[in-house]
Amino acid sequence: MINLPSCTSNSKEKKFIRLNTRHSKAAFFDRDGVINVDYGYVASIDDFEFVKDVFSALNYIKSKDYDIFIITNQSGVARGFYTETDIRSLHSFIDDKFKERGIEISGYLYCPHHLDATVAEYSKDCIWRKPNPGMIEAVLSLKQYNKNKCFMIGDRCSDVLAAKNAGIRGEKFVGESLLSFVKEKF
Ligand SMILES: [Mg+2]
Ligand SMILES: [Zn+2]
Repeated sequence: MINLPSCTSNSKEKKFIRLNTRHSKAAFFDRDGVINVDYGYVASIDDFEFVKDVFSALNYIKSKDYDIFIITNQSGVARGFYTETDIRSLHSFIDDKFKERGIEISGYLYCPHHLDATVAEYSKDCIWRKPNPGMIEAVLSLKQYNKNKCFMIGDRCSDVLAAKNAGIRGEKFVGESLLSFVKEKF
């Protein structure tokens, strides 16, 4: 099973990401609103719905020799809506669905923190929470990626800013089809 590192994991766990030694580029995808329909604080399989074209879009990116990462803010944990265990189970489920289609995701990273937390232990202005660059930087520190060729796609300005703050290209996802979008941009 894939490891699912977060800013709350120990540093050993953070290193156990699937990296393809052949690849020198990393592609980062936001989760809610890009990979799946954003119904707001999605944390269960019942609420999870892949967006149209997501499998063909990621297959297309895979064919361009990228390590693919999904990076997601999950302040629902800080707000007490669900737990880190819920996120991890959901990400395992998502990973199985990608694997069934021959798509290897190199890592799923999340940040459960928020300054307005109702769960005290998750109250933090965390470097991993987008628009901060922590999740992207954690991945870029694992291997010699060609930063000029890495990119991040998200549906919010905070995603694009996170990319900028990490020194990589950021694109705001617009339109109906993720496949058309990635084909147009990459
Ligand atoms: Mg989003
Ligand atoms: Zn965090």
